[in-house]
Amino acid sequence: MMDKLDIIPMKAWASPRNENCLIIAGPCSAETRDQVFQTAKEIQKSDRVDFFRAGVWKPRTRPGGFEGAGIEALEWLKEARAETGIKIAVEAANSRHVEQCLKYDVDVLWIGTRTTANPFSIQEIADALKGVDIPVLIKNPMNPDLPLWIGAIERIHKAGIRKLAAIHRGFFPFERTHLRNIPKWEVVIELKSRFHNLPIICDPSHICGNSAYVEKIAQKALDINLNGLMIESHIKPEKALSDSAQQVTPDHLESILANLKHRVVEIEDSKFKDALTDFRGQIDDIDYQMTELMGERMDLVRQIAREKWKRNISVLQLKHWENMQKTRIEHARERELSDTFIKKIFQLVHKESISIQTDVMHILNKEKQEKKDTDDGDSDQA
Ligand code: PEP
Ligand code: MN
Repeated sequence: MMDKLDIIPMKAWASPRNENCLIIAGPCSAETRDQVFQTAKEIQKSDRVDFFRAGVWKPRTRPGGFEGAGIEALEWLKEARAETGIKIAVEAANSRHVEQCLKYDVDVLWIGTRTTANPFSIQEIADALKGVDIPVLIKNPMNPDLPLWIGAIERIHKAGIRKLAAIHRGFFPFERTHLRNIPKWEVVIELKSRFHNLPIICDPSHICGNSAYVEKIAQKALDINLNGLMIESHIKPEKALSDSAQQVTPDHLESILANLKHRVVEIEDSKFKDALTDFRGQIDDIDYQMTELMGERMDLVRQIAREKWKRNISVLQLKHWENMQKTRIEHARERELSDTFIKKIFQLVHKESISIQTDVMHILNKEKQEKKDTDDGDSDQA
């Protein structure tokens, strides 16, 4: 299903240096006047960055940490803009922040992940934005709840904001991995297919939590045609008062931006198009066969369920399941398929198979009970 948002194309309001890719960079937090000026100057030198970001009010998990320099930081940002010419982007988490940012003539607002998760806060911000013409970028909520993300976008849109974009910053991980937040690209792809005209910018810094991985994730975002990047950059990352591990130096930022390959969606090359059609045809056949095989597999599962039911054996056979995973993974390795991929597939298959078996057993139980009730009724009458 595709929904329509009445929005102004990004190139009309941001005029990115690279038409297809908006670049926002700057420190996690504005800490001191010097840090803001030095970082802004270095970043501006590279000529690749469209907006300078800096957090002014910082949402910290626990009290006592650095909570941002507040209004003073807005002053520094305004001066840094006047000196370098780079436009500024600031996070707003409530109506007071919005008012202060408007007072200081901030060019772009973004809404952080914790705020997006709360419709009351979003509505308060939306109300403060009524009648205002400013671009607003909305980060995904911490949890991969697409309707919640869309709800926030719609509330801001309903307030009359037409310069809109989403920011993908990853989702809180259920299990720890090498990344701070899980990208869950499928959620972003779903958002893209719901709103074709909504620009989506990737924030690899908050996905990675570690500057070493930023380039790889940034490239992945461009590989799936996202429309820009927000990267945290600090003049001295090791000294940063927030998100120290994930910030890159302006030099590192320059090298990341220079290395990135920008992809196009289509090209006019008939030979390539024919080859693509051919590959896709072969893939269609394989997918069709996989579905057929899955159907056959689940038919067998139904038969097993009947046999287990007759003998009153449990649906879950833990030893068998553990052995199954092991053998499937070993086989998959021979085909150079990753353990995690194959594990996920068979977890899904097994889950479906368990649910089919419990359904079959439930029906058989019911049939047995109904038969018993009828038999009892017959004998009562006899
Ligand atoms: C930030 O951009 O510094 C920030 C706080 O991000 P998020 O809301 O994605 O955690
Ligand atoms: Mn940060």
